[in-house]
Amino acid sequence: MMRKTISNQFFLHYLVVFVLVAVATVSAYFFLIIANHLAEDTFTKNRYPASAMMRDDYRFIDPAPILKNGGSLQIVDKDYRVVVAEGKDALPKRQLTPAEFTEFLVESKSKDRTLSHDILYNPQGEFWLIITFPTSFRIDFEVKMNPKAATGNFPRVAFIFGLTIAIYLLLLTALTIVYSRITGSRITESLRKLRDGTRLLREGDYSARVDLRLTNEFAELQDTFNDMASRIEEEIDLRKKSEGDRRQLILDISHDLKNPMASIEGYAERLLHAATMSEEERRGCLEVIQKNSQRANRLLTELFELSQMDSPEFSLHLEATDLCEVLRQICGELVQELERAGFDYEFAIPEEPVWAWLDIDRFGRVVHNLADNAVRYNPRGTTVSVSLTVTDDQAMIHFSDNGIGIPTRLKGDIFKPFVRADYARTFETGGSGLGLAIAKRITEAHGGDVVLCSSSGKGSTFRMTIPTI
Ligand code: ADP
Repeated sequence: MMRKTISNQFFLHYLVVFVLVAVATVSAYFFLIIANHLAEDTFTKNRYPASAMMRDDYRFIDPAPILKNGGSLQIVDKDYRVVVAEGKDALPKRQLTPAEFTEFLVESKSKDRTLSHDILYNPQGEFWLIITFPTSFRIDFEVKMNPKAATGNFPRVAFIFGLTIAIYLLLLTALTIVYSRITGSRITESLRKLRDGTRLLREGDYSARVDLRLTNEFAELQDTFNDMASRIEEEIDLRKKSEGDRRQLILDISHDLKNPMASIEGYAERLLHAATMSEEERRGCLEVIQKNSQRANRLLTELFELSQMDSPEFSLHLEATDLCEVLRQICGELVQELERAGFDYEFAIPEEPVWAWLDIDRFGRVVHNLADNAVRYNPRGTTVSVSLTVTDDQAMIHFSDNGIGIPTRLKGDIFKPFVRADYARTFETGGSGLGLAIAKRITEAHGGDVVLCSSSGKGSTFRMTIPTI
């Protein structure tokens, strides 16, 4: 059983074509023979056959109808002399030798000629009547078999004919095979390349691409394949990266929880086992325990908040709000905090309303996070400024301070969870390293963004954009 490969199917198709061609060749041959016989009846010459025109005395033969129909008439007597010649000359000379006349007779039977002769001998009058018409229509494809003159060597003739037919069929078969292989190979070659590409992809080589150098349907398939491969590659890269991020996050969480927990455990043990302890000392221990549990609690709360925002159920409670009004209110709340910390402040918020879809609580959380950071990481006397400007379709809030600034190298990473500019200082201030990450998620959920746009040494400026209505 032949395998159902494309090249085999091609071969089968061509084999069918081969049989059809062979059948068509044989039928064409028979049709020509039939056509030959059918057309023969309509030849002009048959309307004036020599047998019908013949008279015993050639002077009574009327050449007029023959001449009228474009034919010619000749009479040759027994001495091979042309005695009558009407119309176009069929014979070259007036007086022929017996050899010349015999040659003419033999020639006249030949199929390959432009004139057809009807020649009849009249034994009574002892002359030949030759009626000639131009051959108007000929099909020179005919097999004639003369049983009387049949060859004595029939097997030889059969062999020659058989061999000719066999060679013809063999040639046709060879052409069929070669042509089917050539045309099939183009397709199989493309399929092979695509198959190899798919295999590589299956084995995990996502950089596999296919280049067929074609412009047909296979090229479309190739483009689709390459597109699919690059998408898978991107997806896998993304997954690897997010897996790495997640692992890093867990590491950071455990690291950040370890310190306060160890501290709480240590001080609690001291409290339990210390034989004597002054009231002041006891208070000190309890304060450390309280500070560290607050720290751990804050870390867990913020972590919970951040992971909530990652969950698919997370949604904002959006209301059409006057952004300026909300920002003014929040800044009012900040004034106390800033003054207590010995900070100066400048607010530039327009009077006219700027409408936006806002989750007021969460938006407030972002502004508070930024303000808390400014207070936490900068010395007294630092100026904090908040300004709001509006462009075509978005409001821009600049939140800046002229404090210590954030190193430029952290510009891209500072919004990632647990990234801090100064770890020791952050620990001291109780920062979790999650505040900016939360701020970023919230603004992004509003369809906006928050970026750090200051360079280190010149304080910090955060630019927050929120789409307006
Ligand atoms: P944290 O809870 O530690 O404040 P954040 O994500 O809010 O975490 O901030 C990340 C880090 O960016 C901080 O640890 C701090 O080093 C730095 N930072 C943030 N805001 C400021 C600021 N206004 N001035 C200086 N440093 C800042």
